[in-house]
Amino acid sequence: MRQFLLLFGLIWLVGSAGAGAQQALSGLARLTGDGLELTERRGRVEIEMGLTQPVPWRVFTLDGPPRVVVDFSELDWSNAGAEVAATQAEQIDTITVGTFRPGWSRMVIALAGPMAVTEAEMATQDGGARVRLLLTASDATSFAASAGAPDSALFHEARGLGLPPRARPEGAHGLMVVVDPGHGGIDPGAERGGLREADLMLTFARELEEVLLRAGLFDVVLTRDDDIFVPLEERVTIARRAGADVFLSLHADALAEGHAQGATVYTLADEASDLASATLAERHDRADLLAGVDLSSSDDAVALVLMDLARTETTPRAERLAEALIAGIHSATQSTFKRPHLHAAFSVLKAPDIPSALIELGFLSSERDRAKLADPSWRLSAAQGIRDGLLQWAREDAAAAERLLR
Ligand SMILES: [Zn+2]
Repeated sequence: MRQFLLLFGLIWLVGSAGAGAQQALSGLARLTGDGLELTERRGRVEIEMGLTQPVPWRVFTLDGPPRVVVDFSELDWSNAGAEVAATQAEQIDTITVGTFRPGWSRMVIALAGPMAVTEAEMATQDGGARVRLLLTASDATSFAASAGAPDSALFHEARGLGLPPRARPEGAHGLMVVVDPGHGGIDPGAERGGLREADLMLTFARELEEVLLRAGLFDVVLTRDDDIFVPLEERVTIARRAGADVFLSLHADALAEGHAQGATVYTLADEASDLASATLAERHDRADLLAGVDLSSSDDAVALVLMDLARTETTPRAERLAEALIAGIHSATQSTFKRPHLHAAFSVLKAPDIPSALIELGFLSSERDRAKLADPSWRLSAAQGIRDGLLQWAREDAAAAERLLR
């Protein structure tokens, strides 16, 4: 069993269980008043929040970078004011709040340096509850020693197990396409000009699903069908569980520099095509890391060899997939980046046995791309382009497989 050190262990609210369960049915708990309240005093930070009703919760710390993570049975964060609160304390870099997985909300407090959670309590108050955390400056060694997520059966039970049953068109058979809308929940992705990458890609994923299903030749599974956080590794697991023939991750990131515009298709490579691509892949891993997902893999040597073997076969298939997608998107929208096929070490593309591609449909940093991405008829053309690319690829792929058998 995995051991962990935790200052307070699990802090569950103990009270009248019956009344709590009934309250929970009446809707999500919300923050009261002005949301998060922060006070900083002599190396100590006090964080307080009022809730409309008490909920199960837990507190723990994570290292590299130092963070305090607070999980609550689902909360409505709409009036949390987390950004405002974060600016009020020097010892806190950022506070992020959002849905972590179905039924669970998370608050991630990114610390400027190591701090210990010296007090943590949820007290009932006038039918609601008051949460109070006291953080005290600590040192790197003791912080590292106490960091780690506790293993809690209750928390895992709330995980979205299995996928919702999806209606399939009559007589449809063939390619299983797993469509992965990037980001979600606590990780919004790029945000520019009032557009949020996570929302935009969920909308587009649903539209693409519709177009693919209407073609009658594809089965489609989405890795998320809601504004929830799905770790990168879990997205790949969902693809495998669905028996994916193809995995398509959908993004519309923003670039810090330059005036890049048009669609790009990424395939996996250890060496990134350029610095911007490397930064993009790192930023996606970082979103996972900050949300509290451990990316360190425990693959043994045998598994790695098997993965390499699978990759030898999958890599050229994924390369052809990218070329076919670019051709499809280009002929449908004439909107592709000047160098449309790029490579980077995106974690979400790492299934060794599933041809995978990451489509940057456009750049949210480009005004022209934003206008296209916001336009439903442009998105429909893009979805049709992707459909045509998939059909072209499937034909080529089947022919290539036949050649291998001869
Ligand atoms: Zn993205």
